[in-house]
Amino acid sequence: MTATLIDGKELAGIVRREVTGRTAASAIAPGLATVLVGEDPASGIYVASKRKLSVAAGFRDLHRHLPSDVTQEELERVVDELGADDEVDGILVQLPLPAHLDAAAVIARIHPDKDVDGLTEVSAGRLALNRPGLRPCTPSGVIRLLDWAGVGIKGAHAVVVGRSDLVGRPQAQLLLARDATVTICHRYTADLASATRTADILVVAAGVPGLVGAEHIKPGAAVIDVGIHRTEDGLCGDVDFESARQIAGHLTPVPGGVGPMTIASLLQNTLTAAEFRRGIR
Ligand code: NAD
Repeated sequence: MTATLIDGKELAGIVRREVTGRTAASAIAPGLATVLVGEDPASGIYVASKRKLSVAAGFRDLHRHLPSDVTQEELERVVDELGADDEVDGILVQLPLPAHLDAAAVIARIHPDKDVDGLTEVSAGRLALNRPGLRPCTPSGVIRLLDWAGVGIKGAHAVVVGRSDLVGRPQAQLLLARDATVTICHRYTADLASATRTADILVVAAGVPGLVGAEHIKPGAAVIDVGIHRTEDGLCGDVDFESARQIAGHLTPVPGGVGPMTIASLLQNTLTAAEFRRGIR
């Protein structure tokens, strides 16, 4: 068997066009405030592409760039100001922050209705209780990829490798909310392969290059690779692509799988936040 590849670039384009159309039709221009601290090159690139694509969707760019030596108090004051500013619909603090800053305390200051990354305790609580709210972008993008590829989630056994606040945990909750039977694996899972081989849907977000190979995959399973690693030969994921594609039913490539969906989900969340704030939804 050779897996059907799920083209995240194509789906991200479709989602962005949807958001652009909805934005134009509703005549609201959501304001997105990205907050970048310091000069980390990778963070700079991520924020630049979030800003560019949000402007292309018809959003207002309310970016704030703060120096790398900004104090915790100054950064929290900026986040508070953005929370109180009616022009701002979405706040995204780019992570990681420089080591002297307490990221959890900064995230805790984000106004929950503007939490377009879905990382505050309020958003996490709404997700855990399956109540409406803003969901973390990468796991939302994964659900959308599965739906688009026609992979049935209800009743499937989904295994998530990784339990981070950003990806693994919310991913498991989103799959549960869609009526999958969910197993979460992590670095202390005793026998990873025997757990993952039971998965109809396998989402890998461990941050370990090539962790998952053919021996971890049930024939025909849908395998979603969230990992991104820069190597001398280019980008690769947490899944060994060549061996996985011989056995999986569906597979996301790296690059061009989950990555592009993360920004598409951010745009969707920002528009949703703007609509909620204006009572449109
Ligand atoms: P993290 O380091 O915060 O969490 C990794 C998780 O994997 C932990 O819960 C850990 O217990 C688990 N883990 C580590 N080694 C393991 C092992 N050998 N076996 C089983 N579980 C193991 O990472 P994260 O923020 O969740 O990101 C995971 C990966 O996804 C990284 O490569 C990151 O770059 C990538 N990522 C991609 C996107 C995207 O847009 N595509 C977004 C976020 C993160």
